[in-house]
Amino acid sequence: MNMNLPADVQNIISILESNGHEAYAVGGCVRDCILGKNPHDWDITTSALPEQVKALFKRTFDTGIEHGTVTVLMHGVGYEVTTYRVDGKYEDGRHPKEVTFTASLEEDLKRRDFTINAMAYNDTKGLVDLFGGEADLEAGIIRAVGNPIERFTEDALRMLRALRFSAQLGFEIEADTYQAVCDLAQTLERISAERIQVEMVKLVTSEHPERIRQVYETGLTKIFFPEFDAMMQCDQVNKHHMYSVGEHTIVSMGLVAPEKVLRLAMMLHDIAKPVCKTTDDNGQNHFKMHPVKGADMARTVLRRLKFDNDTTDRVCNLVKNHDDRPEINERNVRRMIIRVGQENFQDLLAVKRADLLAQSMYHREEKLAYVDELEQVFNSIIAAGDCLRIKDLKINGKDLIEMGVPQGQRIGEVLKAIFDEVVDNPQLNDRQILLDMAKNMIK
Ligand code: ATP
Ligand code: MG
Repeated sequence: MNMNLPADVQNIISILESNGHEAYAVGGCVRDCILGKNPHDWDITTSALPEQVKALFKRTFDTGIEHGTVTVLMHGVGYEVTTYRVDGKYEDGRHPKEVTFTASLEEDLKRRDFTINAMAYNDTKGLVDLFGGEADLEAGIIRAVGNPIERFTEDALRMLRALRFSAQLGFEIEADTYQAVCDLAQTLERISAERIQVEMVKLVTSEHPERIRQVYETGLTKIFFPEFDAMMQCDQVNKHHMYSVGEHTIVSMGLVAPEKVLRLAMMLHDIAKPVCKTTDDNGQNHFKMHPVKGADMARTVLRRLKFDNDTTDRVCNLVKNHDDRPEINERNVRRMIIRVGQENFQDLLAVKRADLLAQSMYHREEKLAYVDELEQVFNSIIAAGDCLRIKDLKINGKDLIEMGVPQGQRIGEVLKAIFDEVVDNPQLNDRQILLDMAKNMIK
């Protein structure tokens, strides 16, 4: 097998080899190459010690020197070069007490999580595949290296990684590996929110976001996202729906583009349905106020998983507005754009379409037509350049001050009142008209 390593990777390996060391491309990049995908980064594993690596290359920096990782910079790209290592005893189910360097590639490959991630390659030795990784790639199987119970006991995050790789690759998890996840799910509680977030984002933005169902079925969501379990266990019994809240959520996730904010918004849009559920005299369920309550609950989940503020705000905004359906006219849609934010409106349209396509066929055509019309009116408002922000007004605070309005709160109040008029009547956004309007207001 020839893998066509990029010139820089080839170069790093050659330099290490000609100085008496072993070196291979390893892990994700080897896996992706065999799959015919373009690796997003290249990791190199070597028998050379970190100090020896640093001595051989002009530009390096210490990224994880205590774990044996040195980043070698070539043509502006960083390559992580890591010394062969064995992980010491894992005492807390999270990280090894210490790492020890080793001269054996086999030892280094053994500590890796899955067979498909435990292959190494260089041009001299070809593919080093000690655990049947290539066959598992071929068959589409995620299998722990060695005994899955032991491997997940060492590092509980590997359980979520198994599901993440199955979602990214569309692979099945081998039976013993899957059973071990079910048996040890509770131990995920030892893992930090940050590490869980990384794997969940990769899972939900993958080609198979529906694999979140297995995160639930194995018992993992219960540990960091019990609200999802509640959704899976919440029947809708309502003519608009044909699935449980959880199944509706899963279907809807697959109906938006694989972007973080959109996928998270779908994952969380109905999070409050279980707590907002009421049943009427006809046995139909209703979920009054679930978007507003849902935005609060979504924030709690995203904070728990340590998401950044921008992501959290954008997702919660979509959750809060996902079911807004004002009567469509220009005035209402302008108000809606202002409420949601012009920059979020396309996302909201995508959320609305995914939501209704994951519902029953009841009134589907009408619901789709509504969103289409909303989009048309949005587009025409944007094309017309209507005023949608106070700073789009043809007058500003300086004009008011010149008119004799004292500086301070009053300025903002007058501008806001003028803005409200202009939002309802965009043709008023003319400098002379607004100056006259302001004069009347401050009289
Ligand atoms: P991605 O394409 O998402 O980067 P990857 O396979 O490169 O996938 P990384 O998390 O970047 O995944 O890890 C690089 C390699 O390090 C893996 O392929 C695997 O061999 C090893 N590895 C990473 N995390 C663990 C872990 N928790 N336990 C054991 N081995 C791991
Ligand atoms: Mg990687």
